[in-house]
Amino acid sequence: MQIFHTLADWRAVRKTIPVTASLGFVPTMGNLHVGHASLLTTSRQENDLTLASIFVNPTQFNKPDDFTHYPRTLEADLALLSDTGVDYCLLPQEKEIYATGYTYKIDETISHQLMEGKHRPGHFTGMLTIVMKLLQLVQPQRAYFGEKDYQQFQLIRDMVTSFFLDIEIKPCPTIRETSGLAYSSRNNRLTPEQRQLADQFARIFHQSSLSNEQLITALTACGVSVDYLEEHEGRRFTAVNIGDIRLIDNYKLNSSVSVTHTGA
Ligand code: AMP
Repeated sequence: MQIFHTLADWRAVRKTIPVTASLGFVPTMGNLHVGHASLLTTSRQENDLTLASIFVNPTQFNKPDDFTHYPRTLEADLALLSDTGVDYCLLPQEKEIYATGYTYKIDETISHQLMEGKHRPGHFTGMLTIVMKLLQLVQPQRAYFGEKDYQQFQLIRDMVTSFFLDIEIKPCPTIRETSGLAYSSRNNRLTPEQRQLADQFARIFHQSSLSNEQLITALTACGVSVDYLEEHEGRRFTAVNIGDIRLIDNYKLNSSVSVTHTGA
């Protein structure tokens, strides 16, 4: 696996990739787990070459503390990328990515008023801006995003359509632990007691026959604080807080398969 610390090094190599070779792209913020690995494996299956990026993007964090405490585990991440057979790893630096500051931004005007957009002011603008920058730098044929962050996937797909980028945006199913809890870098910050509560949250949230109100009541009763629990376009979405750890999840309603386990 080739690792790039500067944009110039990567761009020089990008120019050497023949137009006949397809490049798949998996952007991440690191602290990689089996959820990320599934995106990487899908990209490897569907493309000649795969590039993963690791960049903890400061502009998408609406709380400075969340950015500071975001887990950074570069050594283990590089081992996972290498084991997964990734060809290239881009490790961009903030000073290069935001060389002109945070002066040009991608704003979306509808989804940013809903759910994650409403509860995390500025989050989607920061996320769309970094994804646009990375798509321009990587120039992939396909890019892979997890359905765990479903609003994010929809926004990126629609941004690519709006700006006529010739890139396929591919959704990948959420990978879960046996309790149904979605793998997330934030799970690592849970204490053992909070971890049990997170498993309980997942079990309750996946009771798809209950109404939103019943789910909110059940979650609140066991000590989970619910930011929102809503349905849109046949999916149920939620964000909850367990202590100071915020977890999000969603699933398709009326679907016979709503949980993808890794068997872990
Ligand atoms: P992150 O590093 O959290 O920014 O995530 C990078 C990509 O991995 C995003 O497209 C996420 O939606 C995806 N992802 C994170 N967790 C999971 C999971 N449990 N299953 C599938 N995809 C995931």
